[in-house]
Amino acid sequence: MRVLVVEDEPKMATLVARGLREEGHAADIASRGEDALWMAGAAPYDAIVLDVMLPGLDGFATCRRLREQGVWAPVLMLTARDAVGDRVDGLDAGADDYLLKPFSFAELLARLRALVRRAPGERPTLLEAGDLRLDPAARRAWRGEAELDLSMKEFALLELLLRRRGEALSRGQLLEGAWELGFESCSNLVDVYVRYLRDKIDRPFGRRSIETVRGIGYRLRRDGGV
Ligand code: CA
Repeated sequence: MRVLVVEDEPKMATLVARGLREEGHAADIASRGEDALWMAGAAPYDAIVLDVMLPGLDGFATCRRLREQGVWAPVLMLTARDAVGDRVDGLDAGADDYLLKPFSFAELLARLRALVRRAPGERPTLLEAGDLRLDPAARRAWRGEAELDLSMKEFALLELLLRRRGEALSRGQLLEGAWELGFESCSNLVDVYVRYLRDKIDRPFGRRSIETVRGIGYRLRRDGGV
């Protein structure tokens, strides 16, 4: 998944973003609420981690503005204060869940996964196309009975293709979904990783699940290439 981390304390922001990346997710950091507003408008995020205490627009105002501008990605609010009022304000502002600081990274990750699963759209716990299966929480994938050995980026790309199986996705959409900001210009990165993926999920099994869509990009067949 791709996560926007909104936090002005560099240490905390880096810690969360690094943790997410180590789990194979893409993470962008916004240090101000104002930045979060344009970033969330410019890229599709699966979830937003939003600190309450921010300079300028605080977390509540940022959350309200995000919803006003039509950003419906689940928002997990971070609050340092154990005040009931804060939690209520956060939920009223349109947040989906909150976490008290200090928190364990494992809990943050579990909450994010639960939020993304509950988000509108198809968010099954197990993604499938024919005999190609992927479990986002366990970070495992299989072709039939054979478990696939995928790098983190290969996994992220396959997860994205599976979530939107049957749809032709442009290289830009694939980059946006599986990589972070700053990679927008290297669209051949997608071609390279699609080649890696095909060598792991298709070729050894005599399948062709990832189709090249001329002039657009790639599509994962709904039947998994059977
Ligand atoms: Ca803060």
